[in-house]
Amino acid sequence: MITSERLFGRLLGRTHAGSPVPARSAPRLEAGIEVRLDPQGHVLEIHGAQHHGVVMGNGPARLLIDYLVPGSTLALEGTPVDWQGQSLDLAFQGAGSHVVHTRGWVQPHADGWLLQLLDISDLLLGNQQAHSRERCQLLTTHMSEQVRQCSPSRLQAVVSDMLQQVAQLWHVPCVALALADNAQAGWTIYSAFHRHDAPALWEVDQPAGSALDSLYGQAPQRFEPLHGNREHSRLNGLFANADGFLVPYSDHQGVCAWLLLGMYPASAHPPAMGDNDWLQVCAALAGPLLGRLREVQHARQMERMEALQGLLGSGWWEWSPALEQLQLAPPLAASVVPGQSAYLSREQWLGLFHPADRDEVASRFNELLVHDKACLLCARLHQADSTQPAMWYRLQGQVLGAGDARRIVGYMLDVSDIKNQQQQAAAAHARLDNVIASSPAVIYVQRYAEGALLPVFFSASLQPLLGWTLEECTAGELIEWVHPDDREQYFARTRQLLREGSVSSRYRLRDRGGAYHWLLDEAKLLRDDLGLPVEAVGLWLDITEASEAAERVRHSEERYRMLVEDSPAMICRYSPDLTLSFGNRPLATYLECAPHQLPGINLSRWLSAQQHQAFVQRLATLTPEFPVSTAEISLQLPGREHAWWVWSDRGVFDAQGQLIEVQAVGRDNTEVRRAQQQLTQSAKMATLGEMATGLAHEINQPLNVMRMAIVNVLKRLSNGDVQIDYLQDKLNRIDAQVQRAARVVDHMRVFGRRSEIEQHLFNPAVAVEGTLSLLSEGLRGKGVEVRCEGLQSLTQVRGHVDQLEQVLINLVVNARDALLSKRETDRDFQPWIALGLQPDHDAVQLWVQDNAGGIDPRLLERIFEPFFTTKPIGVGTGLGLSVSYGIIDNMGGRLSVSNTEHGARFCVTLPGVVATA
Ligand code: ADP
Repeated sequence: MITSERLFGRLLGRTHAGSPVPARSAPRLEAGIEVRLDPQGHVLEIHGAQHHGVVMGNGPARLLIDYLVPGSTLALEGTPVDWQGQSLDLAFQGAGSHVVHTRGWVQPHADGWLLQLLDISDLLLGNQQAHSRERCQLLTTHMSEQVRQCSPSRLQAVVSDMLQQVAQLWHVPCVALALADNAQAGWTIYSAFHRHDAPALWEVDQPAGSALDSLYGQAPQRFEPLHGNREHSRLNGLFANADGFLVPYSDHQGVCAWLLLGMYPASAHPPAMGDNDWLQVCAALAGPLLGRLREVQHARQMERMEALQGLLGSGWWEWSPALEQLQLAPPLAASVVPGQSAYLSREQWLGLFHPADRDEVASRFNELLVHDKACLLCARLHQADSTQPAMWYRLQGQVLGAGDARRIVGYMLDVSDIKNQQQQAAAAHARLDNVIASSPAVIYVQRYAEGALLPVFFSASLQPLLGWTLEECTAGELIEWVHPDDREQYFARTRQLLREGSVSSRYRLRDRGGAYHWLLDEAKLLRDDLGLPVEAVGLWLDITEASEAAERVRHSEERYRMLVEDSPAMICRYSPDLTLSFGNRPLATYLECAPHQLPGINLSRWLSAQQHQAFVQRLATLTPEFPVSTAEISLQLPGREHAWWVWSDRGVFDAQGQLIEVQAVGRDNTEVRRAQQQLTQSAKMATLGEMATGLAHEINQPLNVMRMAIVNVLKRLSNGDVQIDYLQDKLNRIDAQVQRAARVVDHMRVFGRRSEIEQHLFNPAVAVEGTLSLLSEGLRGKGVEVRCEGLQSLTQVRGHVDQLEQVLINLVVNARDALLSKRETDRDFQPWIALGLQPDHDAVQLWVQDNAGGIDPRLLERIFEPFFTTKPIGVGTGLGLSVSYGIIDNMGGRLSVSNTEHGARFCVTLPGVVATA
């Protein structure tokens, strides 16, 4: 170390070892300052001061007070005489705030004193600088260490700590570290510190704008707004218009940090701190900090990557040519080869894939390894359990770098979802295509272009359906194929589609073969998000068959309508309450109105109460199984006497089997009925004629009795032998015979009348008695025994009593004829006829039996035919049995015949109605 003594010796020309030489001769002042003082310590003269910048006083001034920096010479007091013999360190006031540090001594000179001083500012500064550099060194080392060692979470706190130390060490009011913010393309205050007596210029995370970008980043920069340093005016805001100092830090990425020192004028800078020192301080802080921050960022990125790979079931892979093995990223290995090593040989690697895809993977992989050809393909993994859905991976590989740096890397991404969906969609698409191709439908798309719709797509079914191809279906052609009668409709369809967004229409379109197809066209207009039409999607359905069928139905309906209208039969529909809903012209004619007046009319208007009841009862018997019923009904039509209609009803039922409507066909049977009645009447007359003889006998008998009685009475009167008793007896006999004759005649009159229309309830025994009253006398007269049984029965039947009587007379007369003809051949024959009546469950049986030997079995089936008779011409009419059969049938009964051991037995079975006491 250079001592001040030696320094002075050298500067003042003294020998190294010698003591100071008294300055008699003119001293060499270049390096020093000479001050002449009076004994009181006032400065008389000063030399060399200019060189050192010492500020000179005017006139005699005190050294201690007027020249020296106050407080710098604490140990110096009194006058020069006191200062002798000691080394004096004096600090002179320099220009401005500059201080000139000196060292020297005082010695007597003339009558005063000479103060000889050397400027030791440089020496002091050197020392200070060394000292300060040492401290700076220590601080930077400390800072770097702290920043490197702390945990990531404490990083900001540690940096803030460091800034505080910087502030304290170099007396900086505000200090902050700004880092380049890549995300925001500017700068952000990472950490800041301000002394308690200084304003808070900066805050943590405060954006620092882009002002720092324009600064020269290789050296510290001063910001002095009041000293003409205006090129950094953009920093005004950042430094609040106060002096500032900025120290950059740059690495391979350029300037990436600034240490900002605010409220820090140049005068306050420690002289010992050079630009390099500041750069070092900033680097010691920002360098490790940026390293740490990038490390954290990298770790986060890695974390994100890992998480992403895990989530996607994907990851990288790398092939090492030297080791001949493939490495899988951990998340990928976890999903592809769970629980196994992530390092795979080529065989193991290829073995991962499904046999169906393995060859392709192997081939592509080979091309990648040998020819550096990047690969991209989708392959399935080989799964032991084939029922699981396939796992599809998108496999990508490429070569990076060349030479020693050549790497073969790739990526695997799980695309099972997409792939399986794709396959499902493809299958659904294929199914749909199939359906469309095999259905009589065509799907089409028409592109919208300036108000027109141009065909751009037709499903494959177009060809089989119409024979046209898409190319042929240009807009111009298409309209040519529309049936000329339907073109107006087609244009209307397009207009409606554009206007309303959807349309459904029918028209005919010609196929390649020239035949027209009826098409049902359902179309919808698709619009973009602005609501402008983009295209129309539609469906043509071939409804030719349906349309033709509908046409046929219409024709057939027309034909049936004509058939119904022109039918001579009455046809109508009516509800179960007999209200007509339709009736054709013949019905209207009968009912004397127009066909359109028929609906609403109730049929019961023309039915008697009894007919109405029977009609309704008959309808009630209709069922879905037996929906048809036929009957002869009688109506009281306007202006006509009783009409008879043969009426056939068919019930129409709903799903629950409920009768909802009746369709009926009717035929006027009045004429037939009348003819039948006439026939019956003539049969009756024939029976009467047959009975004439019997009747004559019947009446002859009482006449004979009366004649005998009268002859006898007259005889007694002529004899004068008349007694009252005798007379009374004879008159009573005559009266009885008159009554008998009157009864017979009366009954004959009844029999000769026509039957009434309505049927009545009556006891069939009445008919049997009537028959016997007419015939029994005559039969007995002919020697035929008449047997009777069961006449006390009370069961009633419905019909006409005279008609049943007519039937019985027929049967009895037939039996009589058979008996008499038999007796002609056998004189000893004892003929009898038996009549009987017996109830049988719900019915009544009447039978007529004889002992004439019966009917030839070969004739049994024919005897009910009209005009069948075995009797001689003029005797038999052959009407008796056929008319009888009709009468019994009309009463709802049955007439049957059988042979017994004696003869024929005719049996009448009638439905019994009520059994009253
Ligand atoms: P008709 O009496 O005018 O011949 P019918 O129709 O009454 O006509 O009878 C048809 C035929 O049936 C008779 O000609 C007769 O041959 C046969 N016949 C009817 N009743 C009897 C009977 N009780 N015994 C035998 N034959 C009978």
